[in-house]
Amino acid sequence: MADSEQLGRTEDHPPTIVLDDVSREYGTTKAVDGVSFAVRDGDFFTLVGPSGCGKTTTLRLVGGFEQPTAGTVELAGQEMSGVPPEDRDTGIVFQSYALFPHMTVRENIAYGLNFTDPPDGQTKAERVEELLSLVDLDGMGERDPDNLSGGQQQRVALARALAPGPSVLLLDEPMSALDAELRERLRVELKDIQQTLGVTTLYVTHDQEEALAISDRVAVMRDGGIEQIGTPREIYHQPATRFVAEFIGDNNIFTGEIAAMNSETLSVRLAGDAATVVDIGRPAQLSTELQTGEEMLFCVRPESLVVGHEKNALNASVESTEFLGETTRVQLDWNGKTLLVHGDETVGERTSVGFDPKNAHIIGRL
Ligand code: ATP
Repeated sequence: MADSEQLGRTEDHPPTIVLDDVSREYGTTKAVDGVSFAVRDGDFFTLVGPSGCGKTTTLRLVGGFEQPTAGTVELAGQEMSGVPPEDRDTGIVFQSYALFPHMTVRENIAYGLNFTDPPDGQTKAERVEELLSLVDLDGMGERDPDNLSGGQQQRVALARALAPGPSVLLLDEPMSALDAELRERLRVELKDIQQTLGVTTLYVTHDQEEALAISDRVAVMRDGGIEQIGTPREIYHQPATRFVAEFIGDNNIFTGEIAAMNSETLSVRLAGDAATVVDIGRPAQLSTELQTGEEMLFCVRPESLVVGHEKNALNASVESTEFLGETTRVQLDWNGKTLLVHGDETVGERTSVGFDPKNAHIIGRL
């Protein structure tokens, strides 16, 4: 069992979604393995991780399309075991949209009201018009879904899920079929709609950039479990594990032995180059207290590993460059280890990169 504080149960209102030590097994496959998290009322909470890590199964457990083999799911303080999807006060958008091709846009949205009355005493017709406007499809009610662009179809699916005014919105990779530019535009619109309605949202994506851009909080999943839960900034700047450090954006991971330390700084002898000792900032709090002589793991983001920085200098050679528009990603070879930096170096050049001690983040013991 996760403790109450971890699940936010100490607040005045219970969190809208609570998963407590939830597992889902299929034969010998543990699709979800002891997952606990809480989503506060009105939050946009994202599950992100590589293919097969259990994101979709977790979402389906919340929606009632799957039952846990262990643990509990609560919605608005009510335990949900045995409660079917239509009685959970949730709306869901699937990856494929699953629109009905023989129905117009208006009929597709109205379908969302087949099992529940519209909120606030509205008629069905009023509710559908309101939703068409909310998702920016005014005047398109009579169209067939086939005659809409992918982005418009996605908005119809969203409107249908929102039609009964659910307390919880579940979105399973709703934009994965769209091109990159449209995805970026729609994620801004989606976040806008979510905030306007204040609907608690659980979002699934394998796209780490999308997860950081859209979420209030993010859970990074791996092999059925959760590696870390935090705000996008926490996940990016303070990864709790090597997996998170490597999965979320580019990163340079270093290992080394603590040669000395004081209250502010750790001096670390780097593995791969015993002659190099770098200074890294010592955070006020560490989950595990480190000792001199211990092997540890830390990371420095490419944007913090700066060409020509005299502090913590590492001599390397330029192996390749990749022009990305806003920046050029430069791959360096440092004693046989690849380092990533941003710059405009030339392949074959020798260069020196360094970093400010406060820009290194300690992940933990090796
Ligand atoms: P993706 O991003 O590829 O959709 P995911 O992170 O959403 O992946 P899940 O779809 O939740 O992952 O699957 C997690 C694991 O459980 C996978 O190994 C998958 O093969 C397995 N799994 C999921 N559903 C079933 C099922 N109905 N029967 C058997 N195994 C399943």
